Amino acid sequence: MLTNHRLLLASRPDGIPGPENFTADAVPARAPDAGEALLETIYLSVDPAMRSWMSSGTAYRKPIPLGDVMHGGGIARVLESRSESHAPGDFVQARLGWQTHPTIAARYLQKLDLSVGTVEDWIGPLGLSAVTAYFGLRDIGHLRSSDRVLVSAAAGGVGQIAVQIARIEGSRVAGIAGGADKCAFVADELHADAAIDYKAEKNLSDAIARACPDGIDLYFDNVGGPTLDAALEHLREDARVVLCGRISQTTAPEPYVLRNESRLTAVHGRMQRFLVFDYHDRYDEARTWLAARLREGKLRQKLHVLEGLMQAPIGLGMLFRGENNGKLVVRLGAS
Ligand code: NAP
Repeated sequence: MLTNHRLLLASRPDGIPGPENFTADAVPARAPDAGEALLETIYLSVDPAMRSWMSSGTAYRKPIPLGDVMHGGGIARVLESRSESHAPGDFVQARLGWQTHPTIAARYLQKLDLSVGTVEDWIGPLGLSAVTAYFGLRDIGHLRSSDRVLVSAAAGGVGQIAVQIARIEGSRVAGIAGGADKCAFVADELHADAAIDYKAEKNLSDAIARACPDGIDLYFDNVGGPTLDAALEHLREDARVVLCGRISQTTAPEPYVLRNESRLTAVHGRMQRFLVFDYHDRYDEARTWLAARLREGKLRQKLHVLEGLMQAPIGLGMLFRGENNGKLVVRLGAS
């Protein structure tokens, strides 16, 4: 009999989430009914949005009820299947939850094509953070090769792919990241034209002016707050601001009020939020493009891998302290 180890949401976070917000339990794994599969979780993706799901929820999602298995997506191996569409040994992608052995209806499982990429590729450069960067830059940012692009949280999961896509398309790219090591990664390994260590800079706006001497056509914003405000000052005519995320504001005691929004009017620019889930029907398009760049050796994604289910809540907190070095994932089993 297999045991399903689970992490349940025990309390709503006040500030940065951590292990204190969860309880662990262990229950017998449930044998699949007709149309279901029993899975072994291999990787869990840990994402900043989970903090919102744990508390008030978001406009697109209700809060997770206390006592529920923590929600989250990842990759799993099929152990037992009562569905014709999946066989034992298949790798699938699904909303697995923070548990080692979920049993899930086969219609919610997406089988991975391992001829396109490895299991690690599917959680990394073909995963949702990469897909987010793809649609954000193209559909919202209308990326052009002549653009001068700035990306915040440039060393993170979404940011590192955004930097690389913009470079691949021929744009000039500067990245903002916290710390010298992350900036060296952005400049040397992602080949950004400039990297700004916002933690070392007294005046971020001045630093942006040095890194983007001709201004910004496209700002891909992962953090919001004062970073967004500083970037707005440097927008060029017809600039586009892609509001991908606002991690600096998730746990901020007071909401930050933008001072430079009127710059958008002056430059006939636009600023737009988006949600990757709205592009669900076009994920294949993004993955085809990303997989081709992966094959050509033009794209990579650095993963920050933590080991074992109990590390998931620790990893979630790390995102809000900038302690992750790359796309944060938790490994539960061997691929
Ligand atoms: P990530 O960038 O890998 O990790 C979060 C990073 O945010 C940290 O490593 C840290 O980098 C930075 N950060 C944390 N607190 C900060 C603060 N107060 N000020 C400035 N930077 C801060 O995470 P990710 O999963 O790739 O997500 C990046 C952003 O995309 C998040 O805002 C997320 O919510 C958003 N997102 C949006 C969508 C969508 O559909 N729109 C989908 C996925 C993700 P430094 O060390 O460089 O500070």
